[in-house]
Amino acid sequence: MRLHVESLNHACVLLSVSGVRLLFDPWLSGTAFSGGWGLRYENPRAIERAADATHLWISLWHSDHMHEPTLRELARRRPDIEVLANVSHNFSMVERLRAMGFAKVDALGERTPLSIGSGVMVTRYPTAGIDNMLHVAAPGASILNYNDCNLPERALRRLKARIGQVDLLLANYNHAGKLFERASDEAIQRTFFGSMARAVEVMRPRHVVPFASSHVYRSRYSTAQNQSLLDFDQLAAWTAHDPRALRPRRGVGDGDPRVGPRDPPRRERTRSAQHRTRRPNPLGPRVLVEPARGDPGHPRDRQAEGRRAPRVRGEAVSSGRCRARRTPRERG
Ligand SMILES: [Zn+2]
Repeated sequence: MRLHVESLNHACVLLSVSGVRLLFDPWLSGTAFSGGWGLRYENPRAIERAADATHLWISLWHSDHMHEPTLRELARRRPDIEVLANVSHNFSMVERLRAMGFAKVDALGERTPLSIGSGVMVTRYPTAGIDNMLHVAAPGASILNYNDCNLPERALRRLKARIGQVDLLLANYNHAGKLFERASDEAIQRTFFGSMARAVEVMRPRHVVPFASSHVYRSRYSTAQNQSLLDFDQLAAWTAHDPRALRPRRGVGDGDPRVGPRDPPRRERTRSAQHRTRRPNPLGPRVLVEPARGDPGHPRDRQAEGRRAPRVRGEAVSSGRCRARRTPRERG
């Protein structure tokens, strides 16, 4: 079984397994939330890669996931992509996705496995609010797109008991919205990174793709929060000791080296520049291993505080089963 995962940008990943090429949440250019969010990195070839998909799944309604301009462009290029549209008791994505130009749109209910061919089954699990995750069970491979979800440990354990072994976990590692509690940038980074670490600890995946976190805030009301987002360089430093982590990098693989913060407001530009010159956070590696106790954090992520993240040991990635090719990209 060969599993190939390509991170195109933000929450957009192209997953190839058993001849199925499943695309998630393409936001590949422009802004989201009426201009409030931008992409930290550019990946000009991403739309071309996305158009290679056989199937498409959108996790939630937020425009960093259901990004209409990108979806319309994708539908223009590939109206035949098979779209898996979330349908719950109180909403349906079917009509909205059809209206964007997709000809084949199938309803994907809650917690009901759906066969998408080649022995691949997908199951959608809704969580609190409007978030959803997708479990992909292929012959010989189990993938969990955890997306923007942030489950308490108990729920994670129940999920683990239900789906069993996870070979590849896609999980978020940054905040994605207004922060209402003041804490140091580093404490905030530790809190959200700790949330991913908790998911890793419980799900015990063979590989992890940190994703859905490479946005920047563009509104003057929230640009200051950009300082507490982990960028790819910091993420690399914080996960350097964990051989399971498949890290997105700028300009790798098919990516264009011409990447950088994308059209950020001026203040952000200055601050990003400062960020880039900063040495890897000396607290970083320790953070993955052991989040500090008692740091004030975001209410959504209180559970992350004071929990012990996985102590990660091991040799370099030895499995040839999962080959990751990361291109720049990057939860809302
Ligand atoms: Zn998001």
